Amino acid sequence: MRLSRYFLPVTKETPADAQIVSHKLMLRAGLIRQTAAGIYAWLPLGLRVLNNIERIVREEQDKAGAIELLMPTIQSADLWRQSGRYDAYGPEMLRIVDRHEREMLFGPTNEEMITAIFRDAAKSYRDLPRTLYHIQWKFRDEVRPRFGVMRGREFLMKDAYSFDLDEEGLRQSYEAMFVAYLRTFARLGLKAVPVRAPTGPIGGNLSHEFHVLAETGESQLFYDAALEDFSRQELLSADKFTIARLTDLYAMEAEEHDKVARCPVPSDQLRTRRGIEVGHIFAFGTKYSESMGLSVQTKEGETVHPHMGSYGIGVSRLMGAIIEASHDEGGIVWPEGVAPFKLGLINMRADDPACTAASDRLYAQLEEAGVELLYDDRDERGGAKFATMDVIGLPWQLIVGPKGLEKGVVELKHRATGERQELSPESALARLTS
Ligand code: ATP
Ligand code: MG
Repeated sequence: MRLSRYFLPVTKETPADAQIVSHKLMLRAGLIRQTAAGIYAWLPLGLRVLNNIERIVREEQDKAGAIELLMPTIQSADLWRQSGRYDAYGPEMLRIVDRHEREMLFGPTNEEMITAIFRDAAKSYRDLPRTLYHIQWKFRDEVRPRFGVMRGREFLMKDAYSFDLDEEGLRQSYEAMFVAYLRTFARLGLKAVPVRAPTGPIGGNLSHEFHVLAETGESQLFYDAALEDFSRQELLSADKFTIARLTDLYAMEAEEHDKVARCPVPSDQLRTRRGIEVGHIFAFGTKYSESMGLSVQTKEGETVHPHMGSYGIGVSRLMGAIIEASHDEGGIVWPEGVAPFKLGLINMRADDPACTAASDRLYAQLEEAGVELLYDDRDERGGAKFATMDVIGLPWQLIVGPKGLEKGVVELKHRATGERQELSPESALARLTS
């Protein structure tokens, strides 16, 4: 992609209304644009990142055996009356009336809809267990939308729903999702701490939130320092034993921690930090299958209400969380897996024919080799080009300048470490395509 033909509204100024670094950087790097309170347009560069996050989330859901479908954003109020949540949900629900005076709503979540879909299709134990998921826009009319995409009103969520014959089945489905979450966050370059979540009035339920540790997080956490010791490799190859080790360790939100009579963690082992909730898994049993009349026949001919769980990931919030966890003074530092392009190619002197010819050649060769790159071919000062590349945070920069070319070299810069290396255009090409 040539920057001269791209749509990348990068700004130098720090937007006044943005309070946290990820929000500032998302605006400065031209990733998003606010169109109404808590509602954002995803600009081309931001959309590429969003698609990458979504792809990783999807791959891990599929790997865990979940099956993708797509439910609509608009739902009928009647569906929500069946579970009794229509009145209970409150002002966070955006209620809509259509031309026939039918009550509709913009879905804040999909338990009711998926239960109805599954109810009308599943008849017997052969139809279970199943976990279904979709990645769809949600709307919640948050009182205080803030921090950019972190707490938006319209946001992208992956929500999965599991159906099992009994509690033991539900526990296994829950564990499979737990593993998928550990792998997903590790692949996104994040350290996410599983925190025991309060399960509300129905006791005995199982629920965990996954928090990315960051100063700007909205939740205050207390946890065992040992939770920080799990390596990326351990999380990528997590199994039920990893989960057992993780969930044995103490981790609570401040409100819950305050209720604990005696904290089991010695004070020198206890950490307190702020966290951003990027995922939430919840085994709630027969709550919706009972209220919405979902039942199936067991092998023995008995009629039972399936045990259900729901599993959310904040796909759009994750973009903010990744930036909170990975940036420096210069701007964003994208982890490789989510970067909008792998490489930024910089032509230092667009007015110098030799420099432009060398840059054009490299661009053509890299494109040919399938490297995703953004080519800064604009007639701009080198300093401005460096600043742009740094703020948008592509993992690698390849810098072509007249002085280097005289010596037969170009410069390869690693964004995360700032390390620079001079090498011939041929070896640069080989390095970037290997
Ligand atoms: P929060 O406590 O942050 O409001 P929640 O408990 O309401 O979150 P869930 O209903 O569990 O969230 O939704 C699943 C995931 O969706 C959350 O873990 C979070 O990552 C994301 N999410 C929820 N609300 C928002 C929002 N307003 N903007 C962006 N992402 C959100
Ligand atoms: Mg909420």
